[in-house]
Amino acid sequence: MAIERTLILIKPDGAARRLTGLTIDRLDSTGLELVGAKMVKVSEALAREHYKALADKPFFPNLIRYIRGEFHGIKDGRVLALVYRGENAIKRVREIAGATNPEQAAPGTIRGSFGRITTAQQFENVLHASSDPADAAREVALWFAAGEVLD
Ligand code: UDP
Ligand code: MG
Repeated sequence: MAIERTLILIKPDGAARRLTGLTIDRLDSTGLELVGAKMVKVSEALAREHYKALADKPFFPNLIRYIRGEFHGIKDGRVLALVYRGENAIKRVREIAGATNPEQAAPGTIRGSFGRITTAQQFENVLHASSDPADAAREVALWFAAGEVLD
């Protein structure tokens, strides 16, 4: 099995509801290794680049506002960005995160336990996690400079 790196963002709902520690605890429980961590101010350009595959979706404008903290009063639109490394890391993190739609996420997953759908139909689901190797490589390089992620 491949050694992978995967990008995790604690989304503004996760930060506002003080789920950062719980999320890191769940990530650490996988046995994967934490190899990158920093607080990032999410510019409009960074948000749009991160989610560019979704640019034509009806929920895209609100998704950009959400990740920049506009719905949660997060100063400067800041998020905690993490990189975890290990065997099958991408899939293992997606498994503990749970499905994108909090109503479909399995009980006990982070999203199944703490996610919600707003009255505006926004999925607030606590964390971002890379979905496949190509996305993970692109996202780690987008959020971290080369020397910021350890081997
Ligand atoms: N999203 C949403 N409504 C949808 C689909 C996605 O609000 O119908 C939001 C949700 O916050 C999700 C993000 O857009 O996490 C990115 O969507 P993606 O399909 O990449 O899901 P993810 O990879 O985060 O599970
Ligand atoms: Mg995705």
